[in-house]
Amino acid sequence: MTNEEIDHMFENYYGKPVDLSKAGNERIRDLANILNIKLNRILQGNDTYPEIHFRFIEDPEFNAFADKPELGKNIYVIAINTGIFYILEDLIGRICGSNSILDDWGDLSEEDDTIKLNNPHMLSLQDLYKQRGVSNPIIPKHESRRILGRVLFQYMFTSVLYHELGHIINGHIDYLRKFGYRLRLSEDKHEYEYENEIDLLTFRTFEMDADAFAANKCIDEIIRAVGVSEEAPQEWKFIFESYHRLVGLWVFSQYLILRILGGFVPTMDEIEEDCHPPSGVRQSMIISAILTSVNSEIKLEEDELLAFHQYFTFQIDRAEEVFQELSSSKLNVESIKFGLSEAGTNIYKSLLAKWVIIRPELLKVAYNKKLRDIA
Ligand SMILES: [Zn+2]
Repeated sequence: MTNEEIDHMFENYYGKPVDLSKAGNERIRDLANILNIKLNRILQGNDTYPEIHFRFIEDPEFNAFADKPELGKNIYVIAINTGIFYILEDLIGRICGSNSILDDWGDLSEEDDTIKLNNPHMLSLQDLYKQRGVSNPIIPKHESRRILGRVLFQYMFTSVLYHELGHIINGHIDYLRKFGYRLRLSEDKHEYEYENEIDLLTFRTFEMDADAFAANKCIDEIIRAVGVSEEAPQEWKFIFESYHRLVGLWVFSQYLILRILGGFVPTMDEIEEDCHPPSGVRQSMIISAILTSVNSEIKLEEDELLAFHQYFTFQIDRAEEVFQELSSSKLNVESIKFGLSEAGTNIYKSLLAKWVIIRPELLKVAYNKKLRDIA
């Protein structure tokens, strides 16, 4: 398909793709180029993988999705809304431009006091614009802090991209299609149309699986990239020489995304209706997925594994502190603890039990023939 045909397909099915040649869209274009390179590298490395196209979509909601438009071919799409771009750009500017956040990363001496938001739990661009007007994002003053911002930004979007890729490669989209599920743009919202009901636990199992897929791919990349970052200044190179610190930063970035998505303790009703597992549960699952991944790349002794686990927990605690620091109002701090509560543990267990049932069915449609045995 030509680029014009792909743009046209997105516009028909999912919403207007961002015009990357337009003035003002340079920052999105730079990120889109990086994400396209990453996506193509994965697709070219696996000749069994289908054709997949990626676009940023003009949509204010904090959302991304994968789908298979009905073109009579094995073509899939991944879309990330501009809402995610501008919200994360704003948050990262505030984080890296602050003299009291992530003080072990680069030189903070030139940065200002934190420029707070009334509430950093933003699920749509309106939530952001209400709080800050339409001014430009904060740019950190010191180069090392701008690089930190770029690393964080790339980590966040790479994991969003790979999460959606996981939905395709691991067969979730085709499984849903078998049951007559179709993603449709109605009014201004993306919603599923369906012929047969699928239980929420199945959807949540897919989310868990896509999170694990993304975590594994990201950790893989980080470990391979250690020591080879070309843009890091000499005095800052040590950061890129340690996968330990980079994986920690990645955990930090993931927590921030999940914190935005789940900034509250879900009520039982909300737990029962949401097709995503609660944020705290997803966070614990991502940690176990990356521990498995790190352990298979670099064989770890039991005490090293424990040290990693503690380090990740430290990153989560720190990300929670950052979220509080960014907020001028008092935020609920209980959302992550939910993952470890009895109700959270029960959800965790039910997902693992469901995975055992669903995995053989997924294997029939997955492009990845090595789906995990255990979640
Ligand atoms: Zn998902």
